[in-house]
Amino acid sequence: MRSAVWFQGCSIECIGCINPQLFSKRGGSLVSVDTLVSDAVAAGVEGLTFIGGEPFDQAHAGAALAKAAQARGLGVVVFTGYEFESLKNRDPDARALLAASDLLVDGPYLAQSPETARALVGSSNQRFIHLTERYAAYKPEMVTNRIDVRVSADGSIDVAGFLGTEALQALAISTSSRRTKRTFPAP
Ligand code: SF4
Repeated sequence: MRSAVWFQGCSIECIGCINPQLFSKRGGSLVSVDTLVSDAVAAGVEGLTFIGGEPFDQAHAGAALAKAAQARGLGVVVFTGYEFESLKNRDPDARALLAASDLLVDGPYLAQSPETARALVGSSNQRFIHLTERYAAYKPEMVTNRIDVRVSADGSIDVAGFLGTEALQALAISTSSRRTKRTFPAP
């Protein structure tokens, strides 16, 4: 169980990104570090996941949030479109965010290289880089549940995750298209 923090703004703008509404730096809402961490602790989650948008475009604030989260015992997973090697040599804010992250999932989304086996990533170039031992046991290639399906009391259905075209069509056929809403996170 995790809380996701969606960063507004992404300067990478991968072709085929499924969250183009997060490209612009305008939008979203300002939330304090204390509020985010306190809400996550109160919810009883194991950690925070930074996604977006691009967390390293707001590395100073991201590092503050990651440090505060770890200080309260939360794990920190960060998805970034930048590659680890470039972040290590970028600036003190980027290095501070790396230093307060347990697991980095790096690399841009490449539509021509779709991921077909591992969970959580959209293209095969993206890497899981363990910066601490906290999530060392996590094996994305072993995860068989590729999607989350949530059925609300009003009958609406939310789907998060990645499916191939045939599986997505089968899911759509097996539910009422009038009552189905599909949402997908950034790769
Ligand atoms: S896939 Fe990630 S890095 Fe690429 S444009 Fe979308 S949010 Fe930015």
